[in-house]
Amino acid sequence: MKLRVLGCSGAEFPGHSPSGFLVDEGLLLDAGTVGSALEQAEQGRIRNILVTHSHLDHIRSIPLLADNIVVSGTSQRVEVIGTAEVLDAIASHLMNGLIWPDFTKIPSPQAPVLTYREIRPEEPFTVGAYLVTACRVNHPVPAVGYRITRDDSSILYTGDTGPTDRIWELAGELAALIIEVSFPSSMEELALMTGHLTPALLARELAKLSRPPRRVLITHLKPQYEETIMEELRALSIPGLELLQDGGRYRL
Ligand SMILES: [Zn+2]
Ligand SMILES: [Zn+2]
Repeated sequence: MKLRVLGCSGAEFPGHSPSGFLVDEGLLLDAGTVGSALEQAEQGRIRNILVTHSHLDHIRSIPLLADNIVVSGTSQRVEVIGTAEVLDAIASHLMNGLIWPDFTKIPSPQAPVLTYREIRPEEPFTVGAYLVTACRVNHPVPAVGYRITRDDSSILYTGDTGPTDRIWELAGELAALIIEVSFPSSMEELALMTGHLTPALLARELAKLSRPPRRVLITHLKPQYEETIMEELRALSIPGLELLQDGGRYRL
């Protein structure tokens, strides 16, 4: 699988954009960043969006992507995939006809640009060539991580999470783990309160895995603490650990 990082930051500043990852050319993992990173033709190849949770920094580009597709006049259609809680939140609070039009009825209710596909945690489903399983993680709102398999290669994206257990039982063999680290270890109390990880908490999570992933790709850093977090991560000497970069391209 190819992974293109549209954004991997826990905040927004120039050069730091919220979570959005393009797998190969048509599958998005979260949609905190889309249109500011992808040209029209690239946006035109998106077919499915796996949404981890309803926080704005993971969903905010869906409405604008939908608008771009309708304006382009193509027959492109996009499936927004998530748990019932996440899809309800998007429908009720984002594309509700007030904050943004309801693109599940545009350009026509019969052939809308967006459709919602509800999935349940721990029930595997297919998305094109991918076999996907969602697993609940620990965040202040209902949230899941996704295990995605294509051919014989699997990646696991945690989305936002504090310390958790079940996802590690389901992880299996991984070509790559994409996992969040938001705060430095000195801010553990805040991290736990807000459902995030620090380098010290990351080390404890990785110790729960029976098989270490080939690569451990870190996302969602608060740029304000980037230097400290990077130093703390380096000190852990975790095999295969890399910090994701906005605009980065990876072959997994
Ligand atoms: Zn969040
Ligand atoms: Zn987030």
